[in-house]
Amino acid sequence: MAVQQNRVTRSRRNMRRAHDALVAANPNECANCGELKRPHHVCASCGHYDGREVSARAPEVEVEDDAA
Ligand SMILES: [Zn+2]
Repeated sequence: MAVQQNRVTRSRRNMRRAHDALVAANPNECANCGELKRPHHVCASCGHYDGREVSARAPEVEVEDDAA
């Protein structure tokens, strides 16, 4: 089993953790529908990217109750 050679002080530990904070997401407004979307990603609500539709949303699929 690996055993650490030196004790990490509270100061050292906290200095290491100073870079661990998460950064909040920075959403953009979709140019087509105005919904907030991730930058450089296709809009999840309308499927547009760079002013044109690149992924059509699939129509609702009927699910039968007796399907196993
Ligand atoms: Zn959109």
